[in-house]
Amino acid sequence: MIDTLQLVDNLSIGTIVVNRDMEVVFWNRWMEDHSHVLREQILGKVLTEEFPALKQKGFPWKVQTVFRLGNFAFFSQKLHQYLFEFENTKYFRPYLPSMQQSVVLVPLKGSDGTVEHVCVSIFDVTDAVLYQQQLIDSKRKVEELSKTDELTQTNNRRHLITRLNEELSIHQRSGCVLSFILLDVDNFKDVNDQQGHVCGDYVLRELSGILKSGIRQYDILGRYGGEEFAIVVPGAGISEALIIAERLRSGVEKFTFECDNNKFNISISLGLASTHGDLLRTPEELFKMADKCLYRAKAAGRNCVVAPDEKDDYTSKDSIPCSGPRDVLNKISPASS
Ligand code: GH3
Ligand code: MG
Ligand code: MG
Repeated sequence: MIDTLQLVDNLSIGTIVVNRDMEVVFWNRWMEDHSHVLREQILGKVLTEEFPALKQKGFPWKVQTVFRLGNFAFFSQKLHQYLFEFENTKYFRPYLPSMQQSVVLVPLKGSDGTVEHVCVSIFDVTDAVLYQQQLIDSKRKVEELSKTDELTQTNNRRHLITRLNEELSIHQRSGCVLSFILLDVDNFKDVNDQQGHVCGDYVLRELSGILKSGIRQYDILGRYGGEEFAIVVPGAGISEALIIAERLRSGVEKFTFECDNNKFNISISLGLASTHGDLLRTPEELFKMADKCLYRAKAAGRNCVVAPDEKDDYTSKDSIPCSGPRDVLNKISPASS
């Protein structure tokens, strides 16, 4: 014959039994270990008087429901974290100072079928909660990594296009204009050749910082590839995009880079595109137009900003709020700005 009392006493689950007056009639060894209250100290005492915090958790009401209805009741970890505030003695302690618990209230019926006692079983679910939290953290990190360019810590190309698509759908709903700036470092091969590849990397990191500080909070910067960056400029027509692009161009031109005590300057060329009414609707169309302008900027001698012109069939009107004059739709260079 199994000694069930000895069995329950040694389970790795907290086990308490209370009567209708909430007096403790059983308190197992697990409860002694974690509460530091010995069985002889608590037997016959009212549980909620010894652990007043139970009242705030709605424990007395739940116990009464079990007595009245004869059903099971639960305290989920998700809702309550724990019923008894016990120290989390596992090694991840700083993360979760208290043991996480899942609690079941079980009716214990007498021979006439009425509930005479309620058994409270406390399960330590700290491990499961920690693993779940670590899984959520890892998922968040992977998501972040999948959106970020490793070298410059800006958006990578894929995420930039995702954000561009989101902004384009806002544009299509609201009619609010959107611009796209594509920029490329001039003669970057020379930087690598003369200063070394490590210095080239440093230049790309610094450059992304200059670009970030030259745009508005809701503009979206990303590394399009190599030494090419792109910026989505929501709410700006070509005229506003020209101002932003020119500010970036001149900011980069003025910045002095330094590698191994060598000081040098670089320049960038920029090509623009805008939804311009509803003429360009997809990321591919915007990229194609901006790339065409970027090519013209290179051909025009580099270190300049080029916007689409009449030849590009930019004949429809800018949509709200931009209504820039046609004469800004041409090249801005250091000489002409
Ligand atoms: P252009 O003015 O016509 O753009 O001339 P360029 O020399 O900048 O153009 P090109 O496309 O010929 O060269 C781009 C160079 O950028 C070549 C490539 O090695 C370098 N590059 C691309 N990605 C990186 C990178 O992550 N780090 C470094 N250091 N260099 C890179
Ligand atoms: Mg280049
Ligand atoms: Mg390039």
